[in-house]
Amino acid sequence: MINMTTPLVEMDGDEMTRILWQMIKDELILPYIDLKTEYYDLGLENRNETDDQVTIDSAEATKRLGVAVKCATITPNAARMDEYKLKSMWKSPNGTIRAALDGTVFRAPIVVKGIEPCVRNWKKPITLARHAYGDVYKNVEIRVPGAGRAELVYTGEDGTEIRETIQDFKGPGVIQGMHNTDASITSFAHACFKYAIDTKQDLWFSTKDTISKKYDHRFKDIFQDLYDNEYKDKFEEIGITYFYTLIDDAVARVMKSKGGFIWACKNYDGDVMSDMVSSAFGSLAMMTSVLVSPSGVYEYEAAHGTVQRHYYKHLAGEETSTNSVATIFAWTGALRKRGELDGIEELITYANDMERAVLWTIESGKMTKDLALITTLDNVTVLNSQEFIREIRKTYDSIK
Ligand code: NAP
Ligand code: MG
Repeated sequence: MINMTTPLVEMDGDEMTRILWQMIKDELILPYIDLKTEYYDLGLENRNETDDQVTIDSAEATKRLGVAVKCATITPNAARMDEYKLKSMWKSPNGTIRAALDGTVFRAPIVVKGIEPCVRNWKKPITLARHAYGDVYKNVEIRVPGAGRAELVYTGEDGTEIRETIQDFKGPGVIQGMHNTDASITSFAHACFKYAIDTKQDLWFSTKDTISKKYDHRFKDIFQDLYDNEYKDKFEEIGITYFYTLIDDAVARVMKSKGGFIWACKNYDGDVMSDMVSSAFGSLAMMTSVLVSPSGVYEYEAAHGTVQRHYYKHLAGEETSTNSVATIFAWTGALRKRGELDGIEELITYANDMERAVLWTIESGKMTKDLALITTLDNVTVLNSQEFIREIRKTYDSIK
């Protein structure tokens, strides 16, 4: 049994991933680790019962303890209001937690032999870091009805005014006002530099500062200043680089690269590029996600949702073949980080071995249905949700 000193913040969730969560704990964690967690039930029923206070509490606990692992959760919509008889359409837990931790989300694919990326030269994962505040996601828009002047006006607290003409319209059109803040961009930059150092990967950052000479240029300057003043020495010491380029140049280079770096993107670019990168790597069920706060707090999860369709099959008593890999990696990621922070070597070894066991199990041809559909391997055995996890346990026992 491996002992822990500091508990993990455990955020339980919904539907099929909640079922997998328990299986993973029973088969892959509790037999090997004297698991210490502070448990928060973020399942929709309990969020509703606690008026979503449990989500806020779990985020506060993460700030206090430093490392959390989260199960996928339902973000309520109209249909869920009826299904769960909700008091209110509670906000997305991920949004609440991200706001509380002021974090940046890093998404990386799990690369395994037999599940080949569409882009042949990608040999290593590409981690996407998306700035999760502002720009077009907090914009103000006007549908211009006809001829007239559109202006951009800033009024300082002391009354000073900055005024620019956007356009003298001759007829109807559209305008859009966006913003970002130095504070948010700085937090984003810190999280990116820290994560690059943490994972010993190069950091790329791209904007369109040749066209957006003030807005995007501010992003570029904040990153560059932080790099020069706070991170350059550490980057050079561990042999990684910081590389700024234009977004279109970055796209071209990413396609020709071998992978193995972090690509930091503005909010919209990150939204678009993360879906492209993740689908090109093969499967949403093989995508990990970690929220990193500028103060160095970590929350690990799978990138996919609660796999509702499989859950209804499960409730109907049918067999499911749901892929638990990203959720297992959320646990190993969190346990490894706990091991690093607390200096528990066995915990780090456990996480490394368990991840290897997952990959070897798949490489030996044993996998869930989603992977069987896209694998390049022959002689594949399709396993159900439970069998796949038990097979991983066997592999782990044989290598540990
Ligand atoms: P989803 O849960 O990601 O599943 C969409 C489809 O992708 C599934 O029906 C399944 O395809 C496939 N899939 C995803 N994960 C898989 C896995 N681990 N193994 C095998 N197949 C997998 O997205 P959704 O159905 O749109 O959303 C369901 C709920 O999740 C929603 O209530 C949403 O709010 C929530 N959600 C939560 C998070 C989060 O907590 N981070 C993120 C996204 C969505 P097939 O049906 O074809 O097998
Ligand atoms: Mg998107």
